[in-house]
Amino acid sequence: MFQIDRTVDLTKHSDGNARHTSGGLGEQSVAPSENATSTDSNKAVKKDGRQNTTLARRPKKEEYKDESGMDTQPSPRVRRATTSRAERIWPGGVIPYVIGGNFTGTQRAIFKQAMRHWEKHTCVTFVERTDEESFIVFTYRTCGCCSYVGRRGGGPQAISIGKNCDKFGIVAHELGHVVGFWHEHTRPDRDQHVTIIRENIQQGQEYNFLKMEAGEVNSLGETYDFDSIMHYARNTFSRGVFLDTILPRRDDNGVRPTIGQRIRLSQGDIAQARKLYKCPACGETLQDTTGNFSAPGFPNGYPSYSHCVWRISVTPGEKIMLNFTSMDLFKSRLCWYDYVEVRDGYWRKAPLLGRFCGDKIPEPVISTDSRLWIEFRSSSNILGKGFFVVYEAICGGEIHKDAGQIQSPNYPDDYRPSKECIWKITVPEGFHIGIMFQAFEIEWHDTCSYDYLEIRDGLTEYSPLIGRFCGYEKPGDIKSSSNKVWMKFTSDATINKAGFAANFFKEMDECSLPDNGGCEQHCENTLGSYKCTCEPGYELTADKKSCEAACGGFITKLNGTITSPGWPKEYPTNKNCVWQVVAPAQYRISLQFEVFDLEGNDVCKYDYVEVRSGLASDSKLHGKFCGSEKPEVITSHSNNVRLEFKSDNTVSKKGFKVHFFSGMSGQMRRRSRRIHLGVRVQVRLMGLRGIRWSLSPADQLSQPASLAAAGDAKHTGLSGDKPTRIMQ
Ligand SMILES: [Zn+2]
Repeated sequence: MFQIDRTVDLTKHSDGNARHTSGGLGEQSVAPSENATSTDSNKAVKKDGRQNTTLARRPKKEEYKDESGMDTQPSPRVRRATTSRAERIWPGGVIPYVIGGNFTGTQRAIFKQAMRHWEKHTCVTFVERTDEESFIVFTYRTCGCCSYVGRRGGGPQAISIGKNCDKFGIVAHELGHVVGFWHEHTRPDRDQHVTIIRENIQQGQEYNFLKMEAGEVNSLGETYDFDSIMHYARNTFSRGVFLDTILPRRDDNGVRPTIGQRIRLSQGDIAQARKLYKCPACGETLQDTTGNFSAPGFPNGYPSYSHCVWRISVTPGEKIMLNFTSMDLFKSRLCWYDYVEVRDGYWRKAPLLGRFCGDKIPEPVISTDSRLWIEFRSSSNILGKGFFVVYEAICGGEIHKDAGQIQSPNYPDDYRPSKECIWKITVPEGFHIGIMFQAFEIEWHDTCSYDYLEIRDGLTEYSPLIGRFCGYEKPGDIKSSSNKVWMKFTSDATINKAGFAANFFKEMDECSLPDNGGCEQHCENTLGSYKCTCEPGYELTADKKSCEAACGGFITKLNGTITSPGWPKEYPTNKNCVWQVVAPAQYRISLQFEVFDLEGNDVCKYDYVEVRSGLASDSKLHGKFCGSEKPEVITSHSNNVRLEFKSDNTVSKKGFKVHFFSGMSGQMRRRSRRIHLGVRVQVRLMGLRGIRWSLSPADQLSQPASLAAAGDAKHTGLSGDKPTRIMQ
């Protein structure tokens, strides 16, 4: 199976092409194609290094193809890189993300691993979106694997991960586009490094191999990188698996550099991304459950004007305990000159936990969540030894939040042996706690004796047990009875799995509120939400809270009764109902109104009933009726009838009740008569008087007894009485 990676540039070049398509090993697309012509020209391009970033490209007009901005139509023309640095770069390197609902736990884990891979080697940060305006959404689009290049701004932007690109390396490649990378082989100096073999490229895909113009990009000084995760493979978009479309020019005794790797970021990718986001030269991202770091030069003294940033990121649900084991920084008032700052979150704007200098060892620092930001600056000329820090991820703990995430330690990598984590979650008084699992994989045992997750309805290990879970099936949604939950994860000394990921949130039973959740009829509470429902025969209106009479339908019964919505009460306003009655071929359908009372008079421009032979809205019209005068019996010209009712936004009346009968065309004439007789009986029974009653000539023959027996007396008002003929 081949996979295409289509990457969409969010801006459009003046020639109108905003799309490019990429491939690497394992994501190439092979299909028959016409020959293209010419091999690559080899004209000299100045050696200004790597240029496929979003830096300093001219801003161009934006143009989007759909609501999410995803260009879903391939364009055969050249994409010329055209970006504006200010818009394309994610401010602070922070990229908020949302993972769409249709991905499996395994896929989510892959996305997270790929994001962590980028975080590990650069200074970009992926954070779960809260209220940020611009963010990426992992989703699935018809383009398969595609993404914008850089930040689009102004709302969500899709990163599409299709069925066959849910691999770590391919997701990392797509994230490269998100970060701001184009494909390596489209950079302006590529002809010095690779040869494009145009005759091997699939028809229509040539544009993916066109290079950007040197004048449009600004070099970041990185050399051409065959090893880039953003480089195509040799046979990407090839007409045949063994035909090269792109070939490195370098040839060391028959060995050419490998291209198209989708395993990890290359050194070049890392170097360029760090330049793009101006990552500090000193410091690193620490993702292990334990670790340490120190000021540069420790213990021999740090240089003046140092600037370092360390980021610690452990599994969500874990906290970080940070311990300074050595401390010697130039001491100044407010630690003005040299200092180390610890912030409780993922970036420089996170709450400050401490700012330290001098030689007193700070107290241990514990994070609120799973990330810490540590910044070191020196601006004095006075040498200190520096500092040394060790940290440790601690799992479990007390959580006082409205919502959050709990994951097993080290998730989505395998949890460690002999772990025990206890979480005590409390949400505000008056709420319950809802828990929904996204992924679950814990060593299976029939009584969950080895590794397990236990959840209790309260705050202690003695609270009532909600469940003890292990195995490979996600537990169902959980709702606590109070605002407290106790959770314990335990692993034994052997067999470790990926663990679990779950969201918790404060949950309330909206239906128990005095206003019934605002629902007119019924309120059904669901985890995290609720919904209104209606009694049979009613349906939700557009506000999703009120109910109104349901109407319309497709009817295949031979006979029955149709009433206006809300019957026997007045019909609602602004209603449009269409009934389509279908009888077997050769049959005809008769309609007999028993009650008829609609707003209007001759014109029928407010409320009306329309009857047609046929099913379409332009089928043969029998009549448009309103007012209080009952329409005469109508017999269709074919085996189907369309009855439409419409009410406007004012006056409502009683509505109508109409009986329909189907029969072979030859029988209809006789049957119709029977109908009238039946109605007459009913009229008499109801003691009504003065009903005007007319029969058309076709209605005046009698109906065989067999048909009468088939008649639905309940609905039609036909009785078993001996027919009495009436005529008026
Ligand atoms: Zn790509």
